[in-house]
Amino acid sequence: MYDYDLLVVGSANADLVVRVERRPAAGETVLGSDLVVHPGGKGANQAVAAARLGARTALLARVGDDGHGELLLRSQRAAGVDTTGVLAGGAPTGVALITVDPSGDNSIVVSPGANARLTPEDVRAASGLLGSSRVVSAQLEIPLETVVEVVRNLPSGTRFVLNPSPPRPLPAELLAACDPLIVNEHEARVIAGGKPDGSPEDRAAALLALGPRSVVVTLGAEGALVATGETMTRVPSVKVDAVDTTGAGDAFTAALAWRLGTGSSLPEAAAFAARVGAAAVTRPGAQESYPTAEEVGAL
Ligand code: ADP
Repeated sequence: MYDYDLLVVGSANADLVVRVERRPAAGETVLGSDLVVHPGGKGANQAVAAARLGARTALLARVGDDGHGELLLRSQRAAGVDTTGVLAGGAPTGVALITVDPSGDNSIVVSPGANARLTPEDVRAASGLLGSSRVVSAQLEIPLETVVEVVRNLPSGTRFVLNPSPPRPLPAELLAACDPLIVNEHEARVIAGGKPDGSPEDRAAALLALGPRSVVVTLGAEGALVATGETMTRVPSVKVDAVDTTGAGDAFTAALAWRLGTGSSLPEAAAFAARVGAAAVTRPGAQESYPTAEEVGAL
């Protein structure tokens, strides 16, 4: 009865990457490498990750009426994502201007562009997509009121998953809809506060007290922690040679959201997602690094 296993509501960015010997000081110009352009943004990444695993996936997002928008539409369609919900126009496509220095450290300027123009009205106009999706996932690279409008328009029986990145304090109405709220340790600290050296269990308990139905704390190479009102379960990671962790959290969230919709329990879905996250860190890039279900099985 559902047309989609997963609807992702979120951002789509063009990542413009230049390698530099050192960053320019104010008023200075430095020469860098050839420009490399990657499709990115947390929403676009999650949609590609789910579709590559085999999920019937749709994306609700906004891009500009420009070449970067075309690039994002192409990469979504190549992965098998339904893009009828990708709106075009209103502002240039969001971009991330990324310089990478020889030690591998990034400096990033984000221009949200069209992502900032994805409105609550756009969500209401997409009621058909919302109504035909088993699970809906969102992040915070679009306006907060747009994400709140998603949970206000969620059909009963549709599950909602939130990765609050970049993190900020969240309204109770949004938190109450999350099943689960998925955070890394930095996001957990910003949203729940608490001691910098507190354990993941402490953070999960503090987050649960804010009202989500369940919480998942991702722990990088250590795997993840799954917390509901009744239980806390550690999910181990898979040992791999990490090459590039960019986009691992997006792959984890997409995989977990899809598996919940297929009837897995939260710990089962998180264990699968940990395998997907591990596979994603074995290859460079974000969307380019996402595995198929077959590759996850072979891990
Ligand atoms: P984020 O990218 O949001 O900071 P994490 O770094 O916690 O998120 O990574 C998300 C998930 O990806 C982890 O919970 C884990 O399952 C997997 N993962 C990340 N880094 C590694 C690693 N070095 N080895 C194995 N798995 C990893």
